[in-house]
Amino acid sequence: MPKIVRAACVIGWPVEHSRSPLIHNYWIKQLGLNAEYRREAVRPEDFAAFVARLAERGYVGANVTIPHKEAALALSKPDARAQAVGAANTLWLDGETLRSTNTDVEGFLANLDVSVPGWDRGLSNAVVLGAGGAARAIVYGLIDRGIGTIRVANRTFERAEELRKMFGAPVKSAHWDEIAGLLAGTDLFVNATSLGMAGHPPLDIRMEDLPPSAVVADIVYVPLTTPLLAEAKERGLRTADGLGMLLHQAVRGFSLWFGKTPEVTAELRKLVEADLVRKS
Ligand code: NAP
Repeated sequence: MPKIVRAACVIGWPVEHSRSPLIHNYWIKQLGLNAEYRREAVRPEDFAAFVARLAERGYVGANVTIPHKEAALALSKPDARAQAVGAANTLWLDGETLRSTNTDVEGFLANLDVSVPGWDRGLSNAVVLGAGGAARAIVYGLIDRGIGTIRVANRTFERAEELRKMFGAPVKSAHWDEIAGLLAGTDLFVNATSLGMAGHPPLDIRMEDLPPSAVVADIVYVPLTTPLLAEAKERGLRTADGLGMLLHQAVRGFSLWFGKTPEVTAELRKLVEADLVRKS
């Protein structure tokens, strides 16, 4: 067995649930690389010391998951995306410098590009539910694509207001009970909350008022087809799911660490789908 020359990992606490090893080790095998991707369970109090010795531990970089994303930002040199989102999910060593980015932005956009080609052509009004880390990445991406009006509705209104202040003119904040009234004029409807996820309450919003041309995206991926996506599909609306986002957000980290740009294939999707079904 040849010595592994490049390694990366996912750092989290807990970390067992992460599908990143499945995704990255699939690409490593597919591309025939002498590399490895591992899981590292690191307590919050040990995170700074862990990343300070990333190279000594044999790593060229890492994914970072809950609860370390804000700490990863603070301990690295972030790019504009991670800085704007306020959280980093991908670290890499650039010489001696630990750099970071947030790949949820491109994961969300690339998944829409593949699932609903041309989705942003003429699209002017989006509604994003949620104001957490994922919602911030999505709002950043939508602004980057030139979407004119993005209404952010959140259970805790003050957090939607924070996003409006953070991102400026294209973002309007909305109260949770205003959502139904926004649907008729919405081109893109995004669930970026944990509602609809297995073990969480359902997203209790009726889709009747969305126009037939609307696109619906849900970033929750357990279950694969959330009740929101099921209802949207039943109504003939175009949809993008959370698993697609998860797979696409992994591409950039892999290419930063291993120097090859991997593909999100149907085979990879099936592999992760089977794992999700097996463990749910
Ligand atoms: P987060 O920072 O904890 O934010 C959670 C969001 O959900 C907040 O806006 C929160 O509202 C809202 N929420 C939670 N419970 C609610 C309830 N009962 N009613 C209404 N709103 C509720 O989490 P996050 O990192 O943004 O992640 C959000 C979801 O996206 C998670 O399910 C996560 O697994 C998923 N995700 C998927 C991907 C992917 O690649 N597909 C990537 C990132 C995240 P408050 O502000 O009022 O608490």
